[in-house]
Amino acid sequence: MSRRRVFILLGPPGAGKGTQAKRIAKQCGVPHLSTGDMMRDAVARGTDLGKIVGPIMQRGELVPDELVMKMVEERLKQPDCAAGCLFDGFPRTLPQAEGLDAIMRRGGFGKPLVVDLAVSNEKLLRRLTGRRTCSVGGEIYNVYDAPPKVDGICDSDGGKLVQRADDRDEVVSQRLAAYEKATKPLAEYYRRQGVLQEVDASASVDEVGRALIGIIQRAEGQ
Ligand code: ADP
Ligand code: AMP
Repeated sequence: MSRRRVFILLGPPGAGKGTQAKRIAKQCGVPHLSTGDMMRDAVARGTDLGKIVGPIMQRGELVPDELVMKMVEERLKQPDCAAGCLFDGFPRTLPQAEGLDAIMRRGGFGKPLVVDLAVSNEKLLRRLTGRRTCSVGGEIYNVYDAPPKVDGICDSDGGKLVQRADDRDEVVSQRLAAYEKATKPLAEYYRRQGVLQEVDASASVDEVGRALIGIIQRAEGQ
């Protein structure tokens, strides 16, 4: 890859962005940046940022754009982002998408490759309420569709599987509403730029992964 490339996985909460990002980041040759993971880490470490964003995330609302942009801009300065990155959960609002465009122009990035993962609301509810995450390595499971071999224990490192506080029923509807209002319009924003691809993410993890890798290979001219 000659230019710095930005890959963006768009889609509602529970669409499978994190699951796929973990599988394809290597293929893209760039690190996986999840703004949700970065903020959960800040909350767990009790940083100033974590103290502000923790209660917002608990309510299922979006964190203010300025805070997200500052965090992303800092992260992109790290040496591992020299070739670009794969975003999962960012951008989530129009100002964030415009802010990212400005960063990419300043930073000498090529056009982003944006893939929208589409899933019905019914499946999203099952995926979100069934999601469990390894408290050690961050592996993602689902009690209905992708259970671990031993209940509550990560197959890879034996870590305890936990349910995210914002995956409980009460918060999930707020998160889906925030997506409809603020994030869904981004598909049109990127379509107009001619960089949007769409994938039916209601298929199996492997099928969605294959579709994504095909898109990346075509975009990279492989
Ligand atoms: P997001 O990052 O978009 O919020 P995740 O990758 O965390 O979504 O996936 C949400 C839940 O759905 C997880 O429990 C995961 O195991 C499950 N999941 C992801 N992709 C699929 C799929 N293609 N089919 C069935 N379940 C899936
Ligand atoms: P996620 O892990 O992507 O599901 O994000 C979990 C929560 O983190 C969201 O519900 C928001 O509160 C917050 N968050 C993550 N990314 C962003 C973003 N790009 N903009 C605003 N809030 C975000």
